[in-house]
Amino acid sequence: GEEVRLGGNEERIFVSVRLRPLNEKEIARNDASDWECINDSTIIYKNANLSAPERSMFPTAYAFDRVFRKSCSTRQVYEEGAKEVALSVVRGINSSVFAYGQTSSGKTYTMTGITEYTIADIYDYIHKHPEREFLLKFSAMEIYNESVRDLLSADSTPLRLLDDPERGTVVEKLTEEIVRDWNHVLDLLSVCEAQRQIGETSLNETSSRSHQIIRLTIESSAREFVRRDNSRALVAAVNFVDLAGSERASQSLAAGTRLKEGCHINRSLLTLGTVIRKLSKGRNGHIPFRDSKLTRILQSSLGGNARTAIICTMSPARSLVEQSRNTLLFASCAK
Ligand code: ADP
Ligand code: MG
Repeated sequence: GEEVRLGGNEERIFVSVRLRPLNEKEIARNDASDWECINDSTIIYKNANLSAPERSMFPTAYAFDRVFRKSCSTRQVYEEGAKEVALSVVRGINSSVFAYGQTSSGKTYTMTGITEYTIADIYDYIHKHPEREFLLKFSAMEIYNESVRDLLSADSTPLRLLDDPERGTVVEKLTEEIVRDWNHVLDLLSVCEAQRQIGETSLNETSSRSHQIIRLTIESSAREFVRRDNSRALVAAVNFVDLAGSERASQSLAAGTRLKEGCHINRSLLTLGTVIRKLSKGRNGHIPFRDSKLTRILQSSLGGNARTAIICTMSPARSLVEQSRNTLLFASCAK
């Protein structure tokens, strides 16, 4: 049936880590590949040159729900790290899939694939359920400097957040496209990609400072010929969140609040960290969703009955070990 009930492990945040191969730049500078996944849940730091005090200062093995070694495809990351959470949307459960990590660790590479695989599977589900009627809506936004922009519109005027008594936080005037078919999805994704790049050029910036949310809302109800009095309409959203580079949070912390951008990136990313840490410890007590735009927008897809998966991406390079450790610390806090 369509009953929606979660219990036990399902309430936890699913945390995985994806290690990418060394890239060309790293290879060109003779960087060592120091991280290795030794099984499906453990990643270790194996720099043999570490001194004993260095080794005793930091843990060298970290365990998560799942770790994906360098050779894993995005398909595999999707199947084992995101699919179950993302597809709960068809059962009327809100969900979010995050990519967290430093710039060039593979967030966009990972989220792009996961977004497409999820939507393809949603279409597959729809075709297998002819007894229900489905409506898909697509929207996309970018948060830069605590300012929200519509990625489906050429107008870059910041959008306001409103509190709706029934729907919670709503992004005012955000474009919602009714999705016609799979090709329409691909068109919408490329519009987002183009808008994101236009933003980067005009601000002389890179996407490393902005958060991107792609949201797919699914409404469904039983078709007339099978409708019974007790059959309910379902509405839920799945959010694909490509976060700003995590180095911003730690850099701007280290440098004080020197840059406005740094400060704001800090706010959304740090608030997300706090919210996730509190959610992972149980859902009691005050959770500061309202402290940043990102967490306000995602509130209904993070708290309560929602499902969450976080994929932390990292480079195996020795030169980036400090950033990679920060990423694993964030991931550990989410567990
Ligand atoms: P981020 O979004 O975190 O800044 P990207 O996703 O843009 O990083 O990745 C940086 C570069 O590394 C891109 O050229 C991307 O294609 C490549 N890359 C990232 N992850 C992988 C991977 N797992 N396998 C192969 N190439 C990857
Ligand atoms: Mg990116």
